[in-house]
Amino acid sequence: MKLRSNHPFWLVKNALLESYPSADKSFSTEILIVGAGITGALIAYELLNSGYKEVVLIDKRDVANGSTAASTAMLQYEIDIPLYQLIEKRGLTTAVTSYKECEKAITTLKSITRKIKSTTPFQKKRSIYFSTSRKGLRLLQKEFQARIDHGFNVRWVNDDELKSWGLIALGAIESASGGVIDTYGIALNLIKYNSDKGLKVLDRTEITNLKHTDDGITAETSRGINIQCKQVINCTGYESTAWLKEDIVKLKNTFAIASEAFNALPEAFKDKIYWDNSSPYFYFRGTEDNRIVMGGGDVNFKNTAARDALIDKKEKMLVKKFHQLFPDIQFKSDYAWAGTFGETADGLPYMGRPDPLKNEHYVLGFGGNGITFSVMGMQAIVPSLLNEPHPFLEYYKFNR
Ligand SMILES: Cc1cc2nc3c(=O)[nH]c(=O)nc-3n(C[C@H](O)[C@H](O)[C@H](O)COP(=O)(O)OP(=O)(O)OC[C@H]3O[C@@H](n4cnc5c(N)ncnc54)[C@H](O)[C@@H]3O)c2cc1C
Repeated sequence: MKLRSNHPFWLVKNALLESYPSADKSFSTEILIVGAGITGALIAYELLNSGYKEVVLIDKRDVANGSTAASTAMLQYEIDIPLYQLIEKRGLTTAVTSYKECEKAITTLKSITRKIKSTTPFQKKRSIYFSTSRKGLRLLQKEFQARIDHGFNVRWVNDDELKSWGLIALGAIESASGGVIDTYGIALNLIKYNSDKGLKVLDRTEITNLKHTDDGITAETSRGINIQCKQVINCTGYESTAWLKEDIVKLKNTFAIASEAFNALPEAFKDKIYWDNSSPYFYFRGTEDNRIVMGGGDVNFKNTAARDALIDKKEKMLVKKFHQLFPDIQFKSDYAWAGTFGETADGLPYMGRPDPLKNEHYVLGFGGNGITFSVMGMQAIVPSLLNEPHPFLEYYKFNR
């Protein structure tokens, strides 16, 4: 029987592992983290490890039910903007450091999943960045050279070798530094771990306004309850656009499908994840329970109703695309869902204080590397709170 759902596969798979209370009375704390997705979970983890005692994590939905639940969760150091282009846009240091730090972030996330004994594991994979068009191939070759020039451990794969794996494409860059996770599962595990270590977690409580006073910040909620705090960290993902003066991200609708479970994962998906360099791009990975998850086909975001109305059409398109690329694998779609996603002009995240005079911070990991950027945000958050310099607060600052 075909299970058909417009809920992301991960939500159905993990269900509600833990639930948390909503706010029922006003209180004060030192630090309020708004947004309990993977970013808020990682930032809370970092603060607890750094010795902060009074930290509250709050979400207007159930925890991790934002884009974290929809993510296809491929971890790659390759940013949406190829290295050679990023060097042109942002200069050598920012570009190469961003790529290198994304690579490190994958290892960091692996260590965290082990440390917290996450019930949903990190799995290491080889990342295959391929092209199916002549023009795309030329750009891919340029990118390959840029990676070699800057010390990345990559290998060129030609069309014959790709064909031997079952992929019809013209060429690819292979790197060993990829991974896959279940972001929703890991966020839930991390929030539970943090909560056991003293983090106060509140869900279903929306922050509607932040009032800055001489005594600190009053976070007003939709329930008429106020939270008095010294610093606020917004890990509010794509909904941050409503709060920010600067127009930093172009929102997109993105679509994903999960296949029925295979008896065993097809060979091509056992140790590899794939994405292509077309625009819009497509990407593919295997799951622990022997499914293939595929995503892509992004279009500009108008509203959620228009986005969700496209799911059936996009599901068919993704399945067709899959069969063109992997003709020997029969992909039977089991789940299809849509999510909101966003791209910044340089493919890089935003971190720090939009207003240097206010104790209001953001960690916004936009783009195809959203998760690795969230991990990198852990390094920047304490310097941001202390108003101390950190390279990420310079590379990824607002008004750049
Ligand atoms: C279909 C899809 C596929 C993706 N694939 C990948 C991938 O392969 N690799 C990758 O690295 N990234 C991927 N991403 C991106 C990645 O999932 C996101 O970058 C990441 O999940 C963002 O996490 P977050 O915690 O910042 O945001 P979210 O998970 O959206 O969390 C933000 C939270 O803030 C809460 N919130 C917002 N406003 C308020 C408020 N006023 N008061 C209280 N709470 C509030 C929301 O309810 C939400 O829970 C994908 C995204 C989508 C949608």
